[in-house]
Amino acid sequence: MSQKKINVKSTIVEIDGDEMTRIMWQMVKDRLLLPHLDMKLEYYDLGLKKRDETDDKITLEAAEAIKKHGVGVKCATITPNKARVEEYKLKQEWKSPNGTIRAALDGTVFRAPILVKNIPPAVRTWKKPIHIGRHAYGDVYKNAEIRVPGPGKSELVYTPADGGGLVKLTIQDFKGPGILQGIHNTDKSIASFARACFTYAYDMKVPLWFGTKDTISKTYDAQFRKIFEEEYRKNWEQKFKDAGLEYFFTLIDDTIARIMRSEGGMLWACKNYDGDVMSDMLGSAYGSLAMMTSVLVSPSGFYEFEASHGTVQKHYYKHLKGEKTSTNSMALIFAWSGCLKKRGEIDKTPDVVDFANKLEAAAIETVEGGVMTADLIKVADPDPKNKQVYTEEFIDAVAKKLESKLK
Ligand code: NAP
Ligand code: MG
Repeated sequence: MSQKKINVKSTIVEIDGDEMTRIMWQMVKDRLLLPHLDMKLEYYDLGLKKRDETDDKITLEAAEAIKKHGVGVKCATITPNKARVEEYKLKQEWKSPNGTIRAALDGTVFRAPILVKNIPPAVRTWKKPIHIGRHAYGDVYKNAEIRVPGPGKSELVYTPADGGGLVKLTIQDFKGPGILQGIHNTDKSIASFARACFTYAYDMKVPLWFGTKDTISKTYDAQFRKIFEEEYRKNWEQKFKDAGLEYFFTLIDDTIARIMRSEGGMLWACKNYDGDVMSDMLGSAYGSLAMMTSVLVSPSGFYEFEASHGTVQKHYYKHLKGEKTSTNSMALIFAWSGCLKKRGEIDKTPDVVDFANKLEAAAIETVEGGVMTADLIKVADPDPKNKQVYTEEFIDAVAKKLESKLK
């Protein structure tokens, strides 16, 4: 190619990962990015071997790098369990890198599906992507639980650190065996979640929807509502109005009913448990895990883009045996395009944003043209022109489309 490469002005933090996604990562870079872009990449290898070698310091370094440069892109990584400790002879069961990075950036994870015309969503009315933001702190994920063996009184107690008066409430007078659970959240975490949601919705130019059960939970869930409302009034109301956007709060059950009847195109902010459950529902309703993108947004305006899926271990083992796989690289490609768009926006380099848009269009048109991996063939509208391709063939097909768009 004799064309001049597009210059990406500022540094991008590149975070490599594991297994099949690591293999595809290299292919995406070699075939789709490096031939066209002049990039300054600051590379962090979060492959499990490297994390073990560095006692996981590399993960914190990667998070610090995102804080420094503002924008990063991450490959999927193994979260070790007992089997992985054995497989990789690890020093210890290192924590989830995503958890570590999320904590370091105080970020919220937003997910959105990639829509293609020939894969209709399970819900017929959905025409636009439904973005989902999950609060990733507290509630049932950081609970205290008791199996109540028999009759007895249970109480909720708060002891102020400043020696002030004790607050005590009876939860239940048990007449027989039962169960008991204590959960909490903090104003700080909810406020930072709210800020991340308004930031993302404003960035993406989509309305923000939020629902809680504040009619029943008049203190706990009501606090979420109140904090969102305050954040909106203080920092976003005018901006949203100017951009023609809406902040819409309603009861969580009403939210779900309305989402099912909507045509999509909103950010749905979810409390921790709602987000856990609803993001899986949305993922499968839109067709495939490999068509779901993900971005971590920090309240200070740092961004980390990735695919929602994992390292696709089963395909990797096939690959290691020398067999060909048909693994879908769409979400990885969109992680890179998302990151490039954000870099271009911040740097004010429209040619980089334009490249990222063309890359996305090339990937979408490839699938819409019937060239797709095994996971999509199963859910796409049947068509004689549909052709199942191997991992590398798909990326090559996207590369070809991209080249013609860049001419
Ligand atoms: P996974 O990697 O998402 O894969 C689960 C299954 O989904 C695959 O076996 C495959 O189904 C299908 N699939 C996922 N992505 C695909 C793609 N790009 N193309 C085609 N099919 C795809 O989840 P997992 O197997 O439970 O986890 C594997 C490893 O990933 C674990 O070690 C976990 O810790 C890690 N993980 C990392 C992240 C992250 O870094 N963000 C997220 C989740 C999991 P078939 O086998 O039926 O084809
Ligand atoms: Mg879940």
